[in-house]
Amino acid sequence: MWRKLVRPNIRAMQPYVSARLEHDAQDALFLDANENSLGSVGGSGLNRYPDPLQRNLKKRLADFKKVDAGRIFLGNGSDEAIDLLMRAFCEPGRDRILITPPTYGMYAVCARVNDVAVDAAPLNPDFSLNAERVLETAGPDTRMLILCSPNNPTANVLDYQLVEKLIRSFDGLVVIDEAYVDFAAANSWLARLGDFSNLVVLQTFSKAWGLAGARLGMAFADPGLIDVLNKIKYPYNVSALSCCAAEKALDHIPQYRKMLGQILQNRTALTADLQSLPFVREVFPSRTNFLLFRVQDAAGLYRFLQRKGIYVRDRSSQLHCADCLRVTVGSTDENEALIQSMKKFKTHV
Ligand SMILES: *Cc1c(COP(=O)(O)O)cnc(C)c1O
Repeated sequence: MWRKLVRPNIRAMQPYVSARLEHDAQDALFLDANENSLGSVGGSGLNRYPDPLQRNLKKRLADFKKVDAGRIFLGNGSDEAIDLLMRAFCEPGRDRILITPPTYGMYAVCARVNDVAVDAAPLNPDFSLNAERVLETAGPDTRMLILCSPNNPTANVLDYQLVEKLIRSFDGLVVIDEAYVDFAAANSWLARLGDFSNLVVLQTFSKAWGLAGARLGMAFADPGLIDVLNKIKYPYNVSALSCCAAEKALDHIPQYRKMLGQILQNRTALTADLQSLPFVREVFPSRTNFLLFRVQDAAGLYRFLQRKGIYVRDRSSQLHCADCLRVTVGSTDENEALIQSMKKFKTHV
């Protein structure tokens, strides 16, 4: 059970009660939050503080995701949820988290900001999960295991049975970052929240929904754990603009599905085009909206593309990713421009 893992100071503290949390009647006179009652300069209609708990959006999301609204936390990107989880559950200078490199860099950065030690149980060279290594590496102070599935930058989904085994045997929180799950045609761990109280699932509006600029991340977990995150977050952590953008997106689910289909189609085409280039050694199978591929001279190709005004990510320095670049699946035109440029690349090794 996760309750014993909450830091004592967090458990004991009383949260800040914002004006909008105290009263949320619809037709009252709101003279309690020192807002500008005359309106907004520029007429944007943003003179009122937003709902601290984003209840309308959560209701919509609960319907779409088939999860109780009480199991949803919304934050300023998934990054906020990652940070709050560390602050709630990891005692600085003592507790540790466990990650499985190569993986998303924010977990370790966030841990270091919070003075939380980071242990690594690397994926196998074929990017599969090494569950034994995870359990061996976990110690008595390991509060959190963070898995990313589909994983960034390796683009694969972690084995379902192995992950389940870890959730069952690991004596701490298991956070599964599903930022790319929309592209994966895989079972989301959302469906299993009721089975495991130590499970936290992260998703985001930044990728498939095309709302990276709105900064809106989701965490799903046991309702009591969500209460802990709400207790320590900034009172108005999600702006009215972001909520509004997400609600609008949920009004257009057919468009979401259509874009998703197009990206998957482009992913297939881009995979084939990359594979046809002589200096591309391997394009790793992708369950995401990006491709990781190994080439003969990653640093050279990276610089070559940069000179042509095409930016990709050099992941060569990451474990098991020697000479690997990561490229986002773009529009048909963007992918075509990328391939046309790459055709002009001559390797010097
Ligand atoms: C892109 C990405 C996210 C999304 O982060 P936001 O803060 O929600 O934009 C989360 N996790 C991983 C692994 C990602 O690649």
